[in-house]
Amino acid sequence: MSGPTNQPAIVAFADLDDTLFQTLRKLPGIDPHTLTPATVSTRGEAHSFCTPAQAELLRLLACGGVTVIPVTGRDLAAMARVTLSFTSWKIVDHGLTLIAPDGEVETEWAGHVRVHLHDLQEALAAATAHLEARAQRLGCRLTRHHAHDLPFMTVLKHPDAHAEALEELQLRWEAFLTDQGLENLQIIANANNVSVLPRLLGKLEAVQHLRQRHFSDAVLTFGLGDSLSDLAFMSACDFAITPPRGQLLRAVNAARLPQR
Ligand SMILES: [Mg+2]
Repeated sequence: MSGPTNQPAIVAFADLDDTLFQTLRKLPGIDPHTLTPATVSTRGEAHSFCTPAQAELLRLLACGGVTVIPVTGRDLAAMARVTLSFTSWKIVDHGLTLIAPDGEVETEWAGHVRVHLHDLQEALAAATAHLEARAQRLGCRLTRHHAHDLPFMTVLKHPDAHAEALEELQLRWEAFLTDQGLENLQIIANANNVSVLPRLLGKLEAVQHLRQRHFSDAVLTFGLGDSLSDLAFMSACDFAITPPRGQLLRAVNAARLPQR
């Protein structure tokens, strides 16, 4: 079902934000006339944009008959604000929700996710509670996110993306998970937020599930992403594509690995 008959499927699993598009804040000095609108804000205004290179990459994939599958932390509402056209499957909620091409939530995956989340509720609640007072004192906000009616992630944000406050709270969270032996949870961080979410169920597992169930005939797969949290699903593909100024390449460059 993944492509025209007799034609081997080629699939690109692609993170969205900061991989296929980004906000203007991340594009200093660029001529706005060269940009392609990619998302709208909650008020319906253009919010994120593709650079000419990103737009050309999408065009190239489309010309090559490549099925592009978003693999995003966005929830359904935020996915609906993406104005680029994706007509196949979509992986949202950091992998916890699969949307079929007809727009329906895949119920088998939802059931699997619910069982997994059920066992994590106590740990998630404890991790969230552990940070609450200190987060408030540092002017940060904690938001619980749900998938299939169950909490699955708590996101910490500072209104001005205060780096020191976020770092202090991230370290505090990581120490809590280690001290309590909560190995089924992980912390992921980017420029303006820190999140606690399941470690063993996410983008990678969703990509594996989709490949097994719906794209087992794929002869070539690409993984596109910018963040360390994308690394696992990108590593499960035949080739990985990552932008030069993303978290992933910055981390690799900083590691200055010995060349052997
Ligand atoms: Mg990203």
